[in-house]
Amino acid sequence: MDNIEYIEIIDFATTNSQSAINSIPKHLELMESNLAGKLAGSKINTMNKLRRLYDAMDKMSAYLDKYSACKSGCSNCCYYPVTISDIEVKYIEKNEHLKRARVIPKSSKDKYKGAACTFLKDGKCSIYSSRPFVCRHMLSMAKTSKVCEPKYAFDYTLPLIRFDGFRSAYDLIKIESGQEINIYDIRDIFYRKY
Ligand code: SF4
Repeated sequence: MDNIEYIEIIDFATTNSQSAINSIPKHLELMESNLAGKLAGSKINTMNKLRRLYDAMDKMSAYLDKYSACKSGCSNCCYYPVTISDIEVKYIEKNEHLKRARVIPKSSKDKYKGAACTFLKDGKCSIYSSRPFVCRHMLSMAKTSKVCEPKYAFDYTLPLIRFDGFRSAYDLIKIESGQEINIYDIRDIFYRKY
């Protein structure tokens, strides 16, 4: 891919993102912007707050599907670094009946560049319902998934749509669970079995 093609991809994605954002129905817009405040005032535990966040993100993704290059069968972003918080590790342990690795190696930014995620199986996510925030937050607004291909990892900035309300809710949940930053890559925590 040359720079001219990349610029065309970004131009399309920028226009497409704006169209998508402008079209979001009011109830979804409010769901996203009010979520952190609602969770902050809620007495449910952090694990259930995380589920509420995931469900809200899935609703937004379902609505934006018609604008996005992210389609069933594409696993390009599963070859990128996948950061994960401790509360999400606990969530996967509980809901997928798995245990984290005892010795956790130190990760570096590009350690897993081009390496499949632990949970990618036959081209699909094997823990789809429990996949972490970062997997739900990535929504490409490009026309195709070409720019997300692992061979371009770190060469280009991906044309993603981002939601500050969801990010705030995620940060709140991490703080409430005693962790402020993501310190792991998912492959450091759960080892690949197949
Ligand atoms: S958790 Fe699932 S969606 Fe996320 S990178 Fe791994 S295989 Fe892909």
